[in-house]
Amino acid sequence: MTAESVLALFRATGALLEGHFRLSSGLHSNGYMQCAIVLQDPARASELGAALAGAVRALSPTVVLSPALGGIVIGHEVARALGVRAIFAERVDAHLLLRRGFSLAPTDRVLVVEDVVTTGKSTKETMLVAEQAGATVVGAASIVDRSGGRTDVGVPFSALAAIDLPIWDPTACPLCAQQVPVVKPGSRPIPSS
Ligand code: ZN
Repeated sequence: MTAESVLALFRATGALLEGHFRLSSGLHSNGYMQCAIVLQDPARASELGAALAGAVRALSPTVVLSPALGGIVIGHEVARALGVRAIFAERVDAHLLLRRGFSLAPTDRVLVVEDVVTTGKSTKETMLVAEQAGATVVGAASIVDRSGGRTDVGVPFSALAAIDLPIWDPTACPLCAQQVPVVKPGSRPIPSS
């Protein structure tokens, strides 16, 4: 899959919206991505997972670790294509933890997989979960890198597509300065393809 075909798929399904958005972090942006819209189609999820697996296979991961909830579906599909385990970390009282009997061994080579990487913060936090469990993080991957390709998480990082969707503090948002009405994603109908 080319980067263009990935972004075309996101636009066609309404998973990539352009406008003026208030993200769940409270920051503003001119773009919003909702990967779950694309991943609800199992065949597409599988195709994206296989494409991502192809980009990271040389790292020889033995397990895929994803942050819940956004990373679970694509993490599972990448792991399916690689033939390795898929586990996830979830947030409990602000801390990302392995639960449900999931564990990592010192011999594990961990690939962190997410749907979208914005700042790399959640990727790094997920990497820390693996490191604290004594495993080695060999790389990270996401379907979309919305930093425009500037993501640096300190390990090899792969994304199927990069798109530059800046994020701003509301006080410094150029769209607010132009008095463009701000939309909270999910508060209006997603356009159909
Ligand atoms: Zn704004």
